[in-house]
Amino acid sequence: MKDLLAGKKFVIMGVANKRSIAWGIAQSLHNAGATLIFTYQGERFKKSVEELVETLGQETNYLISCDVTNDEDIEQAFNQIKEQVGTIHGLAHCIAFAKKEELEGEYVNTSREGYALAHDISAYSLVAVSKAAKPLMTEGGSILTMTYLGGERVVTNYNVMGVAKAALDASVRYLAADLGKYNIRVNAISAGPIRTLAAKGIGDFNSIFKVIEEKAPLRRSVDTSDVGDTAAFLMSNMSRGITGEIIHVDAGYNILGLS
Ligand code: NAD
Repeated sequence: MKDLLAGKKFVIMGVANKRSIAWGIAQSLHNAGATLIFTYQGERFKKSVEELVETLGQETNYLISCDVTNDEDIEQAFNQIKEQVGTIHGLAHCIAFAKKEELEGEYVNTSREGYALAHDISAYSLVAVSKAAKPLMTEGGSILTMTYLGGERVVTNYNVMGVAKAALDASVRYLAADLGKYNIRVNAISAGPIRTLAAKGIGDFNSIFKVIEEKAPLRRSVDTSDVGDTAAFLMSNMSRGITGEIIHVDAGYNILGLS
């Protein structure tokens, strides 16, 4: 897998710390020989992302601020990426947010503002960054986002984030249909639960792990390297016939009915 992505350049959006799924993806893509450009949410994250990226030992570290709630920020970030590296071959969108109070109790209590915010950051942002990345993907390539089973089924406390993931999943299909003619593929990985900063916000998240370890076909939970290696496959030419797809990297948990 060492040279799978040699000579290719990918934008990684959503590293917050070393537990981030985006960081697992970055490590796998780096190990496959890719050059990586990182965007982070704002100054608060700059130092920790900078320190992590240094550990990769890339010749040049590309680090760009991009708050996805702001169209100007997105435009500026992708202009900067164009200036710094020119063509890119893909993008990993690993971004989501909902207010903590919307991730517990009953979905029926979701506020209008909380609903809009969760959808803006967690679903619309994929559309916005795909639009911004398209002109830089002159050789085609692969766009990848992160979703969760809570977009397909009801998962306790996931609430508005589940509804936003359903919108994200549908967006993957519509974007894949639009961008296929430019040889740009769009897919999602539906990851099983992983202990990250974002996951901490979900009420009673820890109790999910026990169920997964007992019931998932592989009898284990997944980690960011499981997701990262699937991302490397999706970014590579090996997955050239796959688009508009949601690939579950969840130790098989999603196939279960009542058991
Ligand atoms: P994380 O907290 O490490 O990453 C979330 C990222 O979103 C952070 O880097 C944060 O800075 C970024 N973000 C939030 N608001 C933003 C904004 N306005 N502009 C730019 N960036 C913003 O957590 P994670 O679990 O690695 O999450 C990555 C993705 O994986 C999310 O889409 C999440 O829903 C998804 N996911 C996570 C799990 C899990 O169990 N952890 C499972 C399935 C899917």
